[in-house]
Amino acid sequence: MTRNWLLYGAPGSGKGTQAEALVQRFSIPHIATGDILRAEVRSGSELGQRAQAIMATGALLPDDVMIDIVRARLAQPDCSAGFILDGFPRTLPQALALDGVLGDLGHPLDRIVYLRVSEEELLARTGGRGRDDDKPEAVRHRIQVYLEETLPVLDHYRPTGLVREIDGEGEVSAVSARVLEALGEATA
Ligand code: ADP
Repeated sequence: MTRNWLLYGAPGSGKGTQAEALVQRFSIPHIATGDILRAEVRSGSELGQRAQAIMATGALLPDDVMIDIVRARLAQPDCSAGFILDGFPRTLPQALALDGVLGDLGHPLDRIVYLRVSEEELLARTGGRGRDDDKPEAVRHRIQVYLEETLPVLDHYRPTGLVREIDGEGEVSAVSARVLEALGEATA
């Protein structure tokens, strides 16, 4: 059985927090494109320098750059028993590319969990994180990009029957329980 999972939701919806809990429990890699880019920024690489400027405004990096990153990561052997994708795909072209990559690798998605959080709660949460791209202007832009470009990705996946929509508000542990249930992993 594979655990090829995609966590989906707005900036601040709690994907990263929930993904970390799943990593602990299932020992599968967490592939968070935002984390990968932040590591590039810290390393000072050319990609990092480019990413930093874009991320600070809340805009997206080019699809081809992101697709190359994710394709290379998913091809690593540690992804063969499963993975948690977080922050990708964020656009329809990224979703189409992902479908191709996963098809080529023979690792089709098993489940997509959509963490639904109200806009009011999203603004409150990102306001408290203190990340470079969490300044009010950038957050507003990220949410706008999410609504325009990323939300339609969910409609691309709905016909697959893999999407489970859950309430992302409330205690972290309560959300975790909902995530596990949505993944078909609830124990008792
Ligand atoms: P968030 O908390 O907004 O979900 P992430 O850590 O996932 O933040 O991403 C932070 C930033 O990294 C995004 O605003 C964007 O600039 C860039 N980024 C991350 N993933 C992608 C992607 N799949 N496509 C384009 N840009 C991305």
